[in-house]
Amino acid sequence: MYFYCEQCKKKYPLNTHAFQCECGGLFSLHKDESDEVTDEISLGEFETPLLPLKIGKLEFLLKLENLLPTGSFKDRGAYRLINELHHLGIKKVVLDSSGNAGASVAAYAAAANIDCTVYVPDDISNEKIAQIEAYGARIVKVANGRMKACTAAKENLGDAYYASHVYNPLFFEGMKSMAREMYQQLGNHIPDYIFIPVGNGTMLLGLYQGFMELGRLPHFVAVQSKKCAPLYEAYHELPAAPKKTTIAEAIRIEHPKRLKTMVEAVRNSFGDVVAVDDKDILEAKKYLGSRGVYVEMTSAAALAGARKYFQAGKPDNYQVIIPLTGSGLKR
Ligand SMILES: [Zn+2]
Repeated sequence: MYFYCEQCKKKYPLNTHAFQCECGGLFSLHKDESDEVTDEISLGEFETPLLPLKIGKLEFLLKLENLLPTGSFKDRGAYRLINELHHLGIKKVVLDSSGNAGASVAAYAAAANIDCTVYVPDDISNEKIAQIEAYGARIVKVANGRMKACTAAKENLGDAYYASHVYNPLFFEGMKSMAREMYQQLGNHIPDYIFIPVGNGTMLLGLYQGFMELGRLPHFVAVQSKKCAPLYEAYHELPAAPKKTTIAEAIRIEHPKRLKTMVEAVRNSFGDVVAVDDKDILEAKKYLGSRGVYVEMTSAAALAGARKYFQAGKPDNYQVIIPLTGSGLKR
């Protein structure tokens, strides 16, 4: 396995301390069939269940990623990333996160005895900070938003490896397991639709890669908050509106690095991008709670998006998956 630049195709080893190519291009992962992956570090991952949810005439399948070891889907990426870094002998990592990726990487780093520092925006929930600190990681709070946390992390790497869920392709490699699981759980079928809350696009791009390997794509419908909707704007070719704070803090990403690839993923899947009101996200979160499912706001955004998308009804035979990205205990 090695990284290569998406633009100029230059190769880099996995243990490179460069997080992007010298030409400015982002890395992708090259993996041969014969390449072996390592699975030494575990926190008890498992196949997350698909839970049917009927709302009036609409039936959805909730994929309960909120049940994973640290309470979010990011554990899939952190599992693969930290396993490979552990195998490479890396002892120190830095990343930036709005919370969930920070908790996932901190937890797996702790299990692998890797030193971990997480740069976070200074307004993320106390629950997420407490969780990251519980795993023994150092927290550095950065003012003025998520992008500033990213810049601060990159500028202060020192001798640490940048364990970024945005830049590092090993993280996306881990996300592919979600696609394989869905396929198997549906009896070797590809679902018709998946509604995905999108910030940096970790889940969207991971599922895209995963389903590409399986040979067929579901329709990906990306969901964003109207208050911060760069993918919605790019996809529908709308002028960029000022980005505001949304209650869905995990998808509050003003300038996602892989925006162009995300637009391609949605287009190639004949999907769509919808933007929802924060009040509808809040209502969806409350609704899920009333059905016994406790999630963070960002997860509820996907349900709000699905209800909006199918407000005129949905054919009964469509299988529609809504991944619940994170646990309500985080906020
Ligand atoms: Zn390059």
